[in-house]
Amino acid sequence: MRASPIAPTVDFSAEGVQHGFLRLPYSRDDSAWGSVMIPVTVIKNGEGPTALLTGGNHGDEYEGPIALFDLARSLRAEEVTGRIIIVPAMNYPAFLAGTRTSPIDRGNMNRSFPGAPDGTVTQKIADYFQRTLLPLADVVLDFHSGGKTLDFLPFCAAHILPDKAQEAKAFDLVSAFGAPWSMKMLEIDAVGMYDTAAEEMGKVFITTELGGGGTATAKSAGIAKRGVANVLKAAGILRGAVGASGTTWLDMPDGSCFSFAEDGGLIEPLFDLGDPVAAGAVVARIYPVGRTGAAPLEVTAKMDGILVARHFPGLVKPGDCVSVLAVVVA
Ligand SMILES: [Zn+2]
Repeated sequence: MRASPIAPTVDFSAEGVQHGFLRLPYSRDDSAWGSVMIPVTVIKNGEGPTALLTGGNHGDEYEGPIALFDLARSLRAEEVTGRIIIVPAMNYPAFLAGTRTSPIDRGNMNRSFPGAPDGTVTQKIADYFQRTLLPLADVVLDFHSGGKTLDFLPFCAAHILPDKAQEAKAFDLVSAFGAPWSMKMLEIDAVGMYDTAAEEMGKVFITTELGGGGTATAKSAGIAKRGVANVLKAAGILRGAVGASGTTWLDMPDGSCFSFAEDGGLIEPLFDLGDPVAAGAVVARIYPVGRTGAAPLEVTAKMDGILVARHFPGLVKPGDCVSVLAVVVA
């Protein structure tokens, strides 16, 4: 396969702190020989494990970028044993536009793996992670939140994996992250995900959903900042003890945790995040908005659980995810 067109301005093997860019040539109307300049920080101090930390995989999710821009500017090399690679905004064009997908090619980074060195801008970034950055990593933390269209109970998560030793290491890091909630996560659509690419390479991979609505709160940003420091401590890369968490474990047992809108309209939520919901309960009503007098469509829960995610905007479209339930693991 051809080489990546991305040229880093940092040396991943050099000691110390380097702030630079992953420079991706992108020729366009307003810049004939222009580039996409994706910020990157590398902090290395001697031998030890490598952590690869990413936010902005989706451009409208903010806890990860907040925690990682903060970490990149504040960490000193002498605090580190090993190496930390920080990319606060992985899909940088999407991050600058405040959108989930790239305004250049509509590429959804988390459906673009393994990527392609001769593909679109988003595919080229994915390929660089697939063939250059992921192979350098031992531990991978990729921050997500709900973005503009979903809102989540704040949780850190890992997946059930065929390799049980790899899975156990991932859940140990989820526990160390110390979000209020910790999830054994089921993916709705795992093909093309960064998660899957990292896991298939044998990496210890964890992710988050820390809020949503296209913004961050003081609470959710704080969870992200404490979580990443805890993960680096648990991995032996930062000194210090992992802070006590008091997390509650959740499981998404099967596809019955998801409910989708079968018609569009005005959505009335009947439960809030964290509320217990019984199977058969109406989680939301969808009012037809073309005229008055019509009965709302009722969206029902297919299992007992607590509400961990909900549709965020006030209007819903057919096929939108209305609610996600999970069960508390004793
Ligand atoms: Zn996301």
